[in-house]
Amino acid sequence: RVRTRIAPSPTGFLHLGTARTALFSWAYARHFDGDFVLRIEDTDVARSTQASVEQIIASMDWLGLGYDEGPIYQMQRLARYQSVIEQMLAAGTAYHCYSTPEELDALREAQKARGEKTGYDGRWRPAPGKTLPEVPAGVKPVVRFANPQDGEVSWHDLVKGQITIANREIDDLIIQRPPADDAPPGTPGVPTYNFAVVVDDWDMGITHVFRGDEHVNNTPWQINIFNALGAPLPQFGHVPVILGDDGLKLSKRRGAVSVTAYEENGYLPEAMLNYLARLGWSHGDDELFSREQLVEWFDGQHLSRSPAQWDPAKLAWVNAQYIKQTDDLRLAEMAAAQLRRRGIAVLESSPGSQHGVTAAMCALFKDRCSTTVELADWLAMYFAPVQPAEAELAQHVTDAVRPALAALATRLQALAEWDKASIQQAIKETIGEQGLKMPQLAIPVRVLVCGRAQTPSVDAVLSLFDRQVVVERLRNA
Ligand code: GLU
Repeated sequence: RVRTRIAPSPTGFLHLGTARTALFSWAYARHFDGDFVLRIEDTDVARSTQASVEQIIASMDWLGLGYDEGPIYQMQRLARYQSVIEQMLAAGTAYHCYSTPEELDALREAQKARGEKTGYDGRWRPAPGKTLPEVPAGVKPVVRFANPQDGEVSWHDLVKGQITIANREIDDLIIQRPPADDAPPGTPGVPTYNFAVVVDDWDMGITHVFRGDEHVNNTPWQINIFNALGAPLPQFGHVPVILGDDGLKLSKRRGAVSVTAYEENGYLPEAMLNYLARLGWSHGDDELFSREQLVEWFDGQHLSRSPAQWDPAKLAWVNAQYIKQTDDLRLAEMAAAQLRRRGIAVLESSPGSQHGVTAAMCALFKDRCSTTVELADWLAMYFAPVQPAEAELAQHVTDAVRPALAALATRLQALAEWDKASIQQAIKETIGEQGLKMPQLAIPVRVLVCGRAQTPSVDAVLSLFDRQVVVERLRNA
């Protein structure tokens, strides 16, 4: 059974790179009717926060990346890691190392001075006939993995193809650090990433590991640890980075790249999912596809080996396509949420249909919007006062047109029905009476009522207002 996982470290928000890896892992599991596991890699105790865990989970929920198991927290598994460490120490595949950080710095400097590759030199690694240094007083040892010294590590990467590294290139990795000085006696030490990840992937029966290619250099160590434990190897797929506009890797530290920021900025989760899936993966020329199609198509093939380019314009285009197809009631809810963020309450004038009127507004404007923020920009005029720009007032609301505006206000006030056809009729009568052309009246009406000179057809726009608001805004001229 296929089992995949995503293993974020809760040291910040879920960023786009991890979201995309989560998406690939999720889609792969769903495609093969397998399981998808969420593991929280919280061994960096100083930097991990509960707020980050919550944000990661909220982002996964928003994208609809449901997991079958988890969240599983590494810090709740210390006893398990400890027991594996003890087995390895007993088997001789791990050993204690008492080298101090100062000593290791000196070693690195000396290696550099000699022009050698830097790395641990195995001074505490036991070997037949070798005398180990004397254990220094007061130094708590780390545990190192005794990496094989001969042969090579080789795997067929699902993305990158065959990768082979000679074992002599790889030093003996620290797999566990000692417990903190103030920890109660008997507290197990904290494992390092490369060790915990192997024990977890083994225990959780992970069959396919998709992750960012910043981890590709860790994989040889991990494979060697799997082998030392007699654990079956998963398959690995290292996905290339996502590059930003500036050609640099998108990272937590640069730009608004959290998934939740996109929610706030008016992107739909299904558009985000669609766009993220196309970053580094393709299915022919298909640009727009549903979640179901993604699951049907995503079989681990067609993952690109070269970096993907983050393209905000394309994301906006994808989002616009989804907005066009989205049900108006749902759009109304999203637009209302955006307006609430600006402190604008969405009052419904038609009782009984909670978002009925707002939905009609969304239907009118959605073709012009690439985000729900833009939709809210349109809808704001219905729920809050507008402030037309001085220049537009001066240009369009001239003395010549004021009598017509007053006459229109009176006609609108007197209409028997407040609907598009009646409003259209009132406007026609007014321009006929005042000898104006349509734009000469319609533009100042837009400026006064909507706060902008360009809108969809003015009768349609006005019909969604409360009549009194329209009349007042016209009379304020
Ligand atoms: N905690 C690691 C990260 O956030 C997980 C890497 C992996 O998937 O093995 O990058």
